[in-house]
Amino acid sequence: MLLLGDEAIAQGALDAGVSGFYAYPGTPSTEIMEYVQRSRDAAERNVHRAWSANEKTAVESALGMSYAGKRAMACMKHVGLNVAADPFINSAITGVNGGLIITVADDPSMHSSQNEQDSRFYGKFALLPMLEPSSQQEAYDMCRHGFELSEAVQLPVLLRITTRLAHSRSGVKPRPAIPERPLQLPQDMRQFVLLPAIARKRYRRLIELQPELVKAAQESPFNSYQDGPDRSMGIVACGLAINYVRESFPDGVSPYPLLQIGQYPVPVNRLERMADECGRILVVEEGQPFVEESLRGALNRGMDVRGRMDGTLPPDGELTPNRVRVALGMDDRSGEPVPEIVRMRPPALCRGCSHADTYKALNQAVKSEYGDGHVFSDIGCYTLGALPPFESVNSCVDMGASITMAKGAADAGMRPAVAVIGDSTFCHSGMTGLLDAVIENTPILVMILDNSATAMTGGQDSHAYGRLENICLGLGVEREHLHLINPVPKNHGDFVALIRRELDYDGVSVIIPTRECIQTLKKRSKGKPAGSPAGKQGGRQ
Ligand code: SF4
Repeated sequence: MLLLGDEAIAQGALDAGVSGFYAYPGTPSTEIMEYVQRSRDAAERNVHRAWSANEKTAVESALGMSYAGKRAMACMKHVGLNVAADPFINSAITGVNGGLIITVADDPSMHSSQNEQDSRFYGKFALLPMLEPSSQQEAYDMCRHGFELSEAVQLPVLLRITTRLAHSRSGVKPRPAIPERPLQLPQDMRQFVLLPAIARKRYRRLIELQPELVKAAQESPFNSYQDGPDRSMGIVACGLAINYVRESFPDGVSPYPLLQIGQYPVPVNRLERMADECGRILVVEEGQPFVEESLRGALNRGMDVRGRMDGTLPPDGELTPNRVRVALGMDDRSGEPVPEIVRMRPPALCRGCSHADTYKALNQAVKSEYGDGHVFSDIGCYTLGALPPFESVNSCVDMGASITMAKGAADAGMRPAVAVIGDSTFCHSGMTGLLDAVIENTPILVMILDNSATAMTGGQDSHAYGRLENICLGLGVEREHLHLINPVPKNHGDFVALIRRELDYDGVSVIIPTRECIQTLKKRSKGKPAGSPAGKQGGRQ
């Protein structure tokens, strides 16, 4: 089978007898769920495969399925793990019943993300075993291995991938599928009750398990030590990075000892061997200096360790074959400058996007009267309103932050304070912020830009579809300060007047401009399911 890394994970989990996928869309992880949603096998087996409201609910639901004895997977991009950090860390304490894999796709170089972060630190923080594939085949195989490991140690397993693996394709040899697990309650019925007395006991167990996790990593088929004749240097390569190392040598054979790490905790015995035998160690890892830092220690004395921390490799951004070549002391083949035609172009709203009409109205009502600095945005296509020609919004921090930031600014005395958020993002984590504002009747105007889709990741269904008005009323927004409008050019005058009117109100107002994303509209009219990439960069960025 020719599969993307994301698809290999989906197929690997399906063939390993998984009963449910829980995910929130976000590049580069979106295609895992999309593959499962297209899978006939998943449909016939009735595998759970609907999008979750956010990453936290995804991890909690997957944990619930594990509680019931079945195998489950939660998927998200790296910043999604920040949202899910609470259940993620606590699931290490509760442990699991059925196997549980939490797949997180990191995005070094921020191709479509607001930050670079390395999820392996979360795995270490939670004291959980981790897997990091170097190829699509390993991504597939690691699913079965991950579920078995999870059930053997009774802990969730973090499966970490990066953009390049998620979005590149390669042949994968599938294995015979195994049946789903039966419904089965946990043996210890108190295990999931994290009252302090139980949590303390469970945490102690987690600590006691650590040597077993190290042993499992040391014996893992995904960690290997390949000796080499030239011991002036040893190379540690994690996950995908092994490919860049191999590409640097003729026939892909390293003359230096080469330690490949695909399962964590770090296999200490193999590192010790390299430290004893080699003059210096180069650590090649995608993301932050996770292994390098543990090799150097706090004082950085003794071993000659090279990597991202000393500048042998750049401290940020994605690895490339050339960056690794240079780190190995070879010639720089960065080549000719990138021709203009293939250069990255600034992203822009699609022609005819409803957000453009909303920003025109917002600019006329807010920017031209009060100046810049009054509009707080969230993450989604509408964030592109920060760029020319609109330059309407002044913030983009994380999912849900627009309403809460506008509230904080209003609390500080800023008038007006306007929040812009999408329908899907509002469901993800905007609702609680609106509740905060309603409780205090904070003078803010919230614009929920309803395009009836999670558009930036390709048009997945929005949980809010047809429900936004009722949700706002349910949260306590006053009927007379809650308005729907179709943001089409002929309504521009009414739209501007409505915004002006609500800016004058000294409390919470909500305006919901409602018009479907033209990309999902096009797909629907061609009879295609929404959910495939809309041809834009980005995702949950
Ligand atoms: S994908 Fe949809 S919402 Fe996003 S910019 Fe294009 S038309 Fe607008």
